[in-house]
Amino acid sequence: MTGPHAPPLRGSLPPEGADPTLGRPGDGVGGPHASPGGFEGSYLGNRALLRSDTRLECKICWWVYDPAEGDPQWQIPPGTPFTELPPHWRCPNCDCPPEQFMVLE
Ligand SMILES: [Zn+2]
Repeated sequence: MTGPHAPPLRGSLPPEGADPTLGRPGDGVGGPHASPGGFEGSYLGNRALLRSDTRLECKICWWVYDPAEGDPQWQIPPGTPFTELPPHWRCPNCDCPPEQFMVLE
């Protein structure tokens, strides 16, 4: 009798520290452009999803509208919610329509 159990072989363990960030689709690392057909987060004109303090990010150029700051380029005063922006408002950075903005959590 040499012992009830043999010690586990340490060298046979899988490499758990490999890179957990790899192989995770939809993580946003590649940018919104990398998800064709998937518009998760985009409010698509459904303003009922937005609150007065909801921030939105342009999915074209990643410019962020923050209601607390407004938009000086469009003379939007601070405290203006996204839903109160004028209908002709466009992204001040790339001129895309507000429907192309994504809700930031
Ligand atoms: Zn933009």
